[in-house]
Order: sequence, then C-alpha cells, then structure tokens
Amino acid sequence: MLTVENLTCGYGGAPVVKGLSFAVPAGGRLCVLGPNGCGKTTLLRALAGLLPHQGTVRIDGLDLGGMTRRQAARSVALLSQISSVYFSYTVYETVLMGRYAHEAGGAFSGPGPEDKRVALECMERTGVLDLRDRPVTELSGGQLQRVFLARTFAQCPRVILLDEPTNHLDLKYQVELVQELKAWAAAERRCVVGVLHDVNLALEFADLFLLMEAGRPRFFGSAEAFDPAQLNNVYQMDVGGHMRRSLKRWEELE
Ligand code: ADP
Repeated sequence: MLTVENLTCGYGGAPVVKGLSFAVPAGGRLCVLGPNGCGKTTLLRALAGLLPHQGTVRIDGLDLGGMTRRQAARSVALLSQISSVYFSYTVYETVLMGRYAHEAGGAFSGPGPEDKRVALECMERTGVLDLRDRPVTELSGGQLQRVFLARTFAQCPRVILLDEPTNHLDLKYQVELVQELKAWAAAERRCVVGVLHDVNLALEFADLFLLMEAGRPRFFGSAEAFDPAQLNNVYQMDVGGHMRRSLKRWEELE
C-alpha cells in the first residue's frame, strides 16, 4: 500500500534522509525509531508531500510526486503533537475541515450531506460527538487531540502519518489514541506510519519497525524480527535494561 524506494530528502540541498526503502502493507502499522535529529520528522514531511524528495513514494501504486495537493490530501493525513489553537471554531467545524479535499463541488464548495455524515461518524468513533458545538479553544489537551483524530479520520486517507501525537497527553489518552489508530488500520485496511518517542507505546502500536541513525536505515522489518541490540547501539544505552528496571520497580510497588 505504501512503498518507499530510495528516498532522499533534506533542506537547502543537504540530504537529511539518505536512501530509505521500505513498504507498509494494507493494515500495517510502522513505527519509526531513532535518536533526536536522525531525520524522523523530515521523513514524515516528505511522505506527507510537504518536502521535495528524490526517489519514489507510492500510495496504492500512485506516485506521490505526481499528485495534486488535493489528491495528496485524500491519500495522506498527518497527525502531529497538539499545538495551540487560535481560532474558536467548534468541534464540528474543525472535524469538517478534514473533508475539504473530498467536497464534491471542489475545495471551495462547502461540505455536502456526505461530508457531514462522515464528520459525525468520525466524531462518534472518537468519542467527541457530545462536544460538537464547543469551541476548540475551550477543550483540554486530551479532548483536542481526539478532535484532531476525528478530523484525520474524516479525511479518509490511505495513510495516516503520526508525528509524536501522544506528546503532552495523559497516559490514558496515549494508550487510547494508539488503540484507536490500530483499530482504524485493521478495519479500513489502511496503514499508519508513526514517530512515537515512548518505546513501550511503540511496541504496543507497531507491527513493523524502521530504525534510523543519521538519516540511514539500520533496521526495517517485523516486530518479531527486531533485535533490541540494534536499539541499544543506535540509542547508545541499554534500552531493554532500563525497561526491565522500571518494571521491577512497578512489581515492587504492587
Ligand atoms: P528527528 O525528527 O529525528 O528528531 P528531524 O527530521 O527533525 O529529526 O531533523 C533531522 C535534521 O534535519 C536535524 O539535523 C535538523 O537540525 C535538520 N532540520 C530539521 N528541520 C530543518 C529545517 N526546517 N531546515 C534545516 N534543517 C532542518
């Protein structure tokens, strides 16, 4: 479903991501891991069509490089960490914005009945239907991220990209967000590519891993084939040892 071949991209002519290739099948959930500055966000920007790239990115066989912005918006949606909202649109209006690339009469026609139906369905699915008429400026961080998730689902993309969307969320919301994305990928047979800093959350979320170091792939493959030793090399610490010590402390508390 998502195929990346020899992807190179960066800023001002200097490559940051260098020669990445991987594929995520329908229903797949890929987590991109690697230390700060290794190029994870830069990769997501290229996959979202926001950054020029060399190599090819194909979604359902179609080349992202050849898509119009409207086509790209129907193919890929990006869910980022919560940022401040400055305009007091209601929850419903915000979710409807996810439909702009689908609106039947073109981008400026306004939402039709089908757009409204999809927006309401996505609000129900993410548990924000009760907040329908509330201004988004009045929501908690957890509620706001659910609204953005509803907007992302309403976009009906083939691929959802996550850029640390669980940052600043309580643990409960983090886990729920990941569960909802997993359910979406399975039910819609579409894929999710995410950067999640929390390795535990990444393990819960992903069935595929891409480990990056300085813009290059160090590992790509299934969760089962993933060798924690590579994680230790790239992060320059004993990641598993750290997790086991944390778990031991929990067990002592219980
Ligand atoms: P990660 O998400 O893995 O922390 P990034 O993709 O954000 O890494 O950054 C990778 C490299 O690209 C870093 O060296 C960073 O300084 C550089 N970089 C990121 N954004 C820009 C930008 N807009 N212009 C120039 N360099 C950038």
